[in-house]
Amino acid sequence: MPVKPYMLHPHIEAAPRKEIEKLQLQRLRETVKRAYENVPFYHKKLKEAGIKPEDIRSLEDVRKLPFTYKDDLRQNYPYGLLAVPIEDVVEIHASSGTTGKPTIVAYTSKDLENWAELMARSFAAGGVSRGDIVYIALGYHWFTGGLGFHYGAQKLGALAVPAGTGYTQRHVMMIRDLGATVLGAVPNYALRLAEVALEMGIDPAKDTRISVGFLGAEMWSEEMRKRINKLWDMDSYDIYGMSELYGPGTAVECHLHDGLHVWEDHYLVEVVDPKTGEPLEPEEEGVLVVTPLTHDAMPLIRYWTNDITKLLDTTSCDCGRTMRKIARIKGRADDMLIINGVNVFPQAIELVVLSQPWASPYYQIVVEREGELDRLYVYVEANRKLDEKEKERLAEQLKHQLRETIIVTPRVIIVDPGQLPRQEGGKAKRVIDKRKM
Ligand SMILES: [Zn+2]
Repeated sequence: MPVKPYMLHPHIEAAPRKEIEKLQLQRLRETVKRAYENVPFYHKKLKEAGIKPEDIRSLEDVRKLPFTYKDDLRQNYPYGLLAVPIEDVVEIHASSGTTGKPTIVAYTSKDLENWAELMARSFAAGGVSRGDIVYIALGYHWFTGGLGFHYGAQKLGALAVPAGTGYTQRHVMMIRDLGATVLGAVPNYALRLAEVALEMGIDPAKDTRISVGFLGAEMWSEEMRKRINKLWDMDSYDIYGMSELYGPGTAVECHLHDGLHVWEDHYLVEVVDPKTGEPLEPEEEGVLVVTPLTHDAMPLIRYWTNDITKLLDTTSCDCGRTMRKIARIKGRADDMLIINGVNVFPQAIELVVLSQPWASPYYQIVVEREGELDRLYVYVEANRKLDEKEKERLAEQLKHQLRETIIVTPRVIIVDPGQLPRQEGGKAKRVIDKRKM
């Protein structure tokens, strides 16, 4: 179903660049001042860097400011970075720290309004409006996905279904029975839901009304998108965000699917060299650094997202929006595998694997140390039963194709349908690095 380009607030989303930048500068200065005056951590940090809030006179001056890292949030656990009294906080979320303390993010009611606005705009970019039924198969707990989608859908006047994850068969039934039109999920769960539906004899493309998906929170390639779109007969939108930036809704694709528009009246983005922290030119790949411009409870300055992307070299888009675009996230800097000295992004492997007509969307990457060498294994589930000879031939073919793309020679193992593990909702574990275990 083609989606009409739709802007919730054209006067902001398509404002002249000058106006956007003027607003950004004003808000940047306010943010730095509030952080300096109300958060002891930032007061100290700025003092050490020899910077006062009044030194910020242009947007480029943001580069004088120090970065904030995830570890700074951990060090200030739980409430150390608040710029408001705790009585003003109405909600908190926490990121799933794999080790040590989680990172807490806090919201005032003003923050929740902002977040709802950003998510509403993001949905609207995909044509969602009042009358839509938004099925939210995302966690409704510490994770920001569920509630972020929820607030945004309700802000638009759409019906928000707080489904959560797990109970996959039940979700399939409810999606069909409720007549849900929009699906919110992590990409791998959108895939899993479709697989379970087919097992139940329900064709998600024909037997449900889902026509738009908003997917994010994990790495997914264009090949994966094609497969998910086909299974559901829907148009899926990549949405970006993280709990430190409220949650989902920092940036989203428009209907042209050529990069994600950053909501620049709320976020100032830079892409920097991961090693030196120096700013990069548009089209140069590096780490995304974001300064939220409207965070009330917890202002952050130059937050190091660790996500690898680039700024696109244009501020105009055929959709009419003037907000800058970033490329789809290539992966997190710490997702990058170093295999015998070669940098490999799992996404590059996914692209090649999923371009094989015989491959199901289920695959797994395993890295092991064997003696002095790293060894890369790629397990791929076939979409039908193949005989051993056929498996060997196709594995050999895929091995060569992968070598050409990633420079490393993997061992490819093709397995029968249903052999690889499935996740019931959370982010998928596609990569197992046994060197780190
Ligand atoms: Zn656009």
